[in-house]
Amino acid sequence: MRLLWLPEVLRAAGLTVHEVSGWRTRGKDTFGPVVGLTCHETRGSRTSTDAGEIRVLLNGSTSAPPPIAQLYLSRSGAWHVVASGTCYHNLVGWAGPNVGYGNDALIGVEAQHAAGEPWTDTQYRSYVRGVAAITRRAGFSVSRVAGHFEHQPGAKTDPGFDMAKFRRDIAAVLAGKDDDMSEKTQTQINELHAIVTAWRSGMPKTPDGRGVEPVGWRIRDEQWQAKVVALLTMLSGQIGGLDTAQVLARIEELAAAESARDAELIDLVRRGQSGELAAEQVVDELAKRLAA
Ligand SMILES: [Zn+2]
Repeated sequence: MRLLWLPEVLRAAGLTVHEVSGWRTRGKDTFGPVVGLTCHETRGSRTSTDAGEIRVLLNGSTSAPPPIAQLYLSRSGAWHVVASGTCYHNLVGWAGPNVGYGNDALIGVEAQHAAGEPWTDTQYRSYVRGVAAITRRAGFSVSRVAGHFEHQPGAKTDPGFDMAKFRRDIAAVLAGKDDDMSEKTQTQINELHAIVTAWRSGMPKTPDGRGVEPVGWRIRDEQWQAKVVALLTMLSGQIGGLDTAQVLARIEELAAAESARDAELIDLVRRGQSGELAAEQVVDELAKRLAA
């Protein structure tokens, strides 16, 4: 089998995801059934680059043939999907939650991290949220999330964090308690949703009359589009770890009944489209409401 759902599942968790060219066919397709996941850290240098670290995963090392792991988690908190089939990130475990299992049954995640380096909140929370999403989709229990050091004690010491706490943090996310999704972040996402709803409502119908263009926030007027993208980019920068595309995907998910606020924003956009307000004024007004 192949884990072709990896990108969509991670994106649905609000994470930034990059697909490494060729990932869909990388690793033997005899992988599975999957029983669990092993957490690793790359133990590269503190100044390592994503490109350099991913190169190792693709080319293998002196101790492991390629591909080394299905997933790579950058210091930035972004995920990179490297392979969908069997990888070579651990041996058959002699201890821990997945004792007796090896590469045929365990998903591997390699986080960009040097020995002894402090974990940033951004990367650690992304690790928790990503593994939580994978656990849920793959259908194994959080107790099947192991650290490499638990799987091969005496031989391995990565990753350098407390696995019991890591599993508790995953369980909290699975139970709907995600610290990352603070009230402020949620408010900003709701605001963005309101804006996009407004844009969609203000857009011309498609020729078949069924509704707005499928890419809801595509705006006919290029000047407006540029301004709104700039605005969204600015806002998404305030929402740590999420990029504009992720925020928009999230907004689409959150599509809900129009609130009075939506109606106000829609009216604003319509006034802009009719020429009553300049594009500048509309964007200013939108920004003002967001800052309020
Ligand atoms: Zn490892």
